[in-house]
Amino acid sequence: MTHTKYASQQVTFTCVTKAILMPRPSQRSRSLRRVKRKTPGGRSVIHYERRRHSVAKCSVCKKPLSGVPRGRDSEIAKLPKTKKRPERPFGGNLCSSCMRREMKRRLFESFS
Ligand SMILES: [Zn+2]
Repeated sequence: MTHTKYASQQVTFTCVTKAILMPRPSQRSRSLRRVKRKTPGGRSVIHYERRRHSVAKCSVCKKPLSGVPRGRDSEIAKLPKTKKRPERPFGGNLCSSCMRREMKRRLFESFS
């Protein structure tokens, strides 16, 4: 009887080793990023996550825009419009300083 118990422990051990060595076919894709995480039990495991989307940048100075969410198009589409870009002219396209410069340029152009 003790032999069977030992055998079952062996099986559990091999299963764990297998999980570390060979991820399942859907996780073998390099289009997923690999994140090393520590479990509460102290084990280190690899989590397979979708790659992060790039940050929205100002179209003039290429500075990262604040107030613009980062994520998949399908996730952003679920957000309310007010959470997708700042509510000012050129919000979500130009940073605040480039927007100010652009507004002044248009104003001076209208006088000349
Ligand atoms: Zn800018």
